[in-house]
This record gives sequence, C-alpha cells and structure tokens, in this order.
Amino acid sequence: MNDRILIAGGGIGGLATALALAQKNIASRVLEKASRLGEIGAGIQLGPNAFHCFDRLGVGEAARAMAVYIDHLRLMDAMEDGEIAQIDLGAAFRARYGNPYAVVHRGDLHGVLLKACQAHPMIELQVSSEVVRYDQDGASVTATLANGERISGTALIGADGLWSNVRRQLLGDGMPRVSGHTTYRSVIPTEQMPEELRWNAATLWAGPKCHIVHYPLSGWKVFNLVVTYHNDAPEPVAGKPVPVEEVRRGFTHVCERAQAIIRHGVDWKMWVLCDRDPVNDWVDGRVALLGDAAHPMMQYMAQGACMAMEDAVCLADTLAQSDGDLPAGLARYRDRRVLRASRVQLMSRAMGDHVYHPAGPHAALRNAIMRAKSQPQWLDTLDWIYGGNGLD
Ligand SMILES: Cc1cc2nc3c(=O)[nH]c(=O)nc-3n(C[C@H](O)[C@H](O)[C@H](O)COP(=O)(O)OP(=O)(O)OC[C@H]3O[C@@H](n4cnc5c(N)ncnc54)[C@H](O)[C@@H]3O)c2cc1C
Repeated sequence: MNDRILIAGGGIGGLATALALAQKNIASRVLEKASRLGEIGAGIQLGPNAFHCFDRLGVGEAARAMAVYIDHLRLMDAMEDGEIAQIDLGAAFRARYGNPYAVVHRGDLHGVLLKACQAHPMIELQVSSEVVRYDQDGASVTATLANGERISGTALIGADGLWSNVRRQLLGDGMPRVSGHTTYRSVIPTEQMPEELRWNAATLWAGPKCHIVHYPLSGWKVFNLVVTYHNDAPEPVAGKPVPVEEVRRGFTHVCERAQAIIRHGVDWKMWVLCDRDPVNDWVDGRVALLGDAAHPMMQYMAQGACMAMEDAVCLADTLAQSDGDLPAGLARYRDRRVLRASRVQLMSRAMGDHVYHPAGPHAALRNAIMRAKSQPQWLDTLDWIYGGNGLD
C-alpha cells in the first residue's frame, strides 16, 4: 500500500491526476476532505486543450458525450446593447486546434472522471480525509489527516485547491489575494431564459466594473448564468446563498436586456474571487502542487480546470519517464508547466481589467480593437493557448 502516490484533493485536478497516473500503470490513493466526491452545480467552459487531456486520461468518448458544442464566443457591450465581437468556433477553429470548444455541467464532468477512477484497479478513493500536513524522508512521504491518521506513499500531490494545506506547508506564502470581484451563479431552465438570448454561444456582456456570462448546458435543458461585479469586496466568500435583489444591485447601470437575464436567475450563490501571483516553487522533494493549489487564477480565461488537467497529464508523463527518481520527475513537471500556467494566471487578470470591466474611453478602445479583428486574426490571438496540445 505504501508504494502508491498520494493525492490530496478529489476535485477535477486530483481525479485527473489519478487517472493520468493509472494510464502509466502508477497506483494512487486520493484523499478527499469532503464526505462525498462531487462538484457544485454550475457550468464550465472547456477549450480544445481540455479535450486533448480527456483523450490522454482515457475518457475522451464519455467527455465528448456530455458536452454542448457551442458555435461562438460572443462579446456584447452591456451599455450599448450591441455586439463587439464573435469568435467562430466552427470548422476552421476545430481544424486548427484539433478539437472543439464546449460547455459542460461541472457535475457531469466530475462524474465522468469519478466513474473512470472508480472503475480503475490502480486508483483508491478515500473521503473524509483532510490532509493537514506531511513529513518526508529520502524514500517516502507521510500525510497526516485531520483525524490523526497517518498515510504513507512514494510522493504527495497537493491538488487541494485554493486553500491548499499542502501549499501552506510547502510555500508558506499566506492567504490568496482577494480580488474584490464578486461572482454570483445560477442555473435556470432553458424556457426561463429570454427567448431572443437563447444563443448557442458562450456570451459575455461586458460593462463598467461588471459582466454577465451565459451559455446552454446539459443538452440545452438549462442555462448557466454567471454574473460578476467588481465591488471591492474585502473578504473571501464561497457559495453563500444571496437574494436576487443583491445580485441586481451591481447591474442597475447596464442595458435592459442584460438586466433581464439576472431577473430570471434563481437560487443565486455568491463567491468573492481570489487568485495568487505566479510562483516557481511548486515542488519540495517528493511533494508537488497541482491545479488551483499551484496556480489559482481568476476565471476570465475559463482555463483553471483545463490547466489542472494539463498539469495532471504532464505530471504522469514526467513521473513515468523518471526511472524511479520521483523528485527529479516532479521537478521536471514543474519546469514544463510553470511558464504556461503563470501566463494564464496573469492573462486572466488582464482580461478582467481590459476586456471584461473597462468603462468610458477604455471600453471604447476595447470595442474598436476587437471589432477590427478578422476571424483569422482571432485564431492567431488564441494560438498560444490552444495551439499545439499544451502537453508536450
Ligand atoms: C466562477 C468560476 C468559473 C470558472 N469557470 C471555469 C471555466 O469555464 N473553465 C475552466 O477550465 N475553469 C474554470 N474555473 C476554474 C476551475 O473551477 C478551477 O480552476 C478548478 O476547479 C480547480 O480544480 P482543482 O482540482 O485544482 O481544485 P478544486 O476544484 O478546488 O478541488 C480541490 C479538492 O480538494 C479538496 N480539499 C481541499 N483541501 C483538502 C485537503 N487539505 N485534503 C484533502 N482534500 C482537500 C476539496 O474538497 C476539493 O474537492 C472557474 C472558477 C470559478 C470560480
């Protein structure tokens, strides 16, 4: 049993890591803090790089079956009620990047990964197991759980998210940065979405210090609504239920059509978003960070989960090539991932400032630049993130 790799966290990153290792015949034990494995009921966008990962994780077919394939990424001006730009996700996009762009329900995505983990003999899943600290010697790592139990393995992967205990010990770099951006999420039946806005697109309405995102999910049964207000909220919050009146407060200045979307939301929940500056130190001997534990980011490039899955595939590759020298394999994993993940972290912040939330001349400049771009120029802009396969 002690010859397994321990993975702290059974989110998208942790389960993807277990599957990626299993594809290389490396056994793992996932230690999840919660009493059940699951995801919150909201949507997630998946770029073509996510689909490269699904194939490498052995779940390509199941992942493709649950996705809604949208036609466009659409950017609207929430003050003018007019389109700024559309990126066509059709044949030219798919041919260039080798895979589609899609939106999925988080629960469905997590379910696909979980089912594959449960079916694999090399993966052990253990709930109610919060990793609070680790100790290591030259040959193994021992994770201590909140209940005092000690579990040993050959390495420990901290896939334990934004508030990672593994990171706290490994890096000790304090609390995440509170962005001051408050996000509210709701999922509504498709028939409650204003009919003229039922677009097969991931649509973003950009306004001064606020934006609204919507897209269809789960075979068009529901629409995912995510609305964000840069209200300088000082404290981190995760998943707090709030009344619709609170959500509407940040959007009284945007056009009527955009406001109407919010009125249709139900059971709103609120998050105050956090991220961190990029760092180099993801690895300490036989311990490494992955996903949000390594590089938490704002959601504005819709890449956090995609990056976690890329990390997972890369980690398994480097460990499989490490000839038993796990610390060397983990160091190579870090070397191969850190610049790409850092770029996405920084770009995500920049997108918030320059695309999602500008006002006045800043917004007019955004519109002028984005309206001038042709479809081939949009694809050139996206090459750094979707080009190649992000893995090799
Ligand atoms: C509003 C919003 C929209 C987003 N949209 C997108 C999108 O469209 N596309 C995209 O790719 N990404 C998106 N993301 C980002 C994405 O959700 C995250 O980057 C991704 O879920 C990170 O996965 P993870 O497994 O690293 O961490 P998490 O999902 O946080 O999982 C961590 C897991 O570890 C467990 N855990 C925590 N501490 C411990 C511990 N000490 N011991 C054991 N277990 C522990 C937790 O219970 C959890 O199960 C979005 C994020 C937000 C906030």
